[in-house]
Amino acid sequence: MILVDLFLTPSDRLLQPLWDYVRFNHFALVSSPFFPVLLAFSGYFSFSIPFTLMDLLGEEVPFFHRYKIQKERRPTVQMMMRSFGRAMYNHVVFVIPAVLLNNYFMPMPPLPALAPTVLELLSGFLGAMLLFDTQYFIWHMVHHKNRQLYKWVHAIHHDYVAPFSWSTQHLSPIELMTVGFWSNLDPIMLQCHPLTTWFTTVVSIWMSVEDHIGYDLPWALNHLVPFGLYGGAPAHDIHHQKPNSNFAPFFSHWDRIFGTGTNIDRINL
Ligand SMILES: [Zn+2]
Ligand SMILES: [Zn+2]
Repeated sequence: MILVDLFLTPSDRLLQPLWDYVRFNHFALVSSPFFPVLLAFSGYFSFSIPFTLMDLLGEEVPFFHRYKIQKERRPTVQMMMRSFGRAMYNHVVFVIPAVLLNNYFMPMPPLPALAPTVLELLSGFLGAMLLFDTQYFIWHMVHHKNRQLYKWVHAIHHDYVAPFSWSTQHLSPIELMTVGFWSNLDPIMLQCHPLTTWFTTVVSIWMSVEDHIGYDLPWALNHLVPFGLYGGAPAHDIHHQKPNSNFAPFFSHWDRIFGTGTNIDRINL
């Protein structure tokens, strides 16, 4: 009963103290149109740092190195800087002007007084992730099947056969803008609370970085989510080795339905 109260009762919400703290102490920051971009970019930056160390230390730390998927391919500092530089360039030249334009035509609504319930937050997050997974699956498959679209828009992301954390945002401006458009639109379509949207942004950035780390860590999401429902790093690593498989970014159901799923056992045959 207490559990039901915590998750469902509209008054006395579990997240209310956090929401009040954010609203009263960081209003200027969280009500800025740039806040979602700041969340996403700082997430990409900070989540990539620990994997940079793992990549640079390599065999010197066998505890992590034994989980490296393509042990023979190691990213260099130059490769990391190239991907990070591209991400910076795309943000400064394309994302920031797009945010300014969007804010001019569609200003952010005022922040609500009430926090979401935990159930609202989790269901909004899951809904947005499933929706994004579907959108990207279709977009991704189309861009691999059409030679011109692949060449113009998606080929840049396949510069590296062995992904590494910074290569998560090694994207053409069109791909980054498309992904950003859905990431903004999906929570609006699902009428998510701003806190749910920010939570979804941070976790989805983590998920996309984890897809590219190049390590099959035993505590990663693909091992935590049961029944092989989540592809994660091993599935996306295979996509970079065999680009006509594993089109879904996160979950595995679309690749199973379309017969495009490949796992590590099959690629090693
Ligand atoms: Zn990738
Ligand atoms: Zn691809």
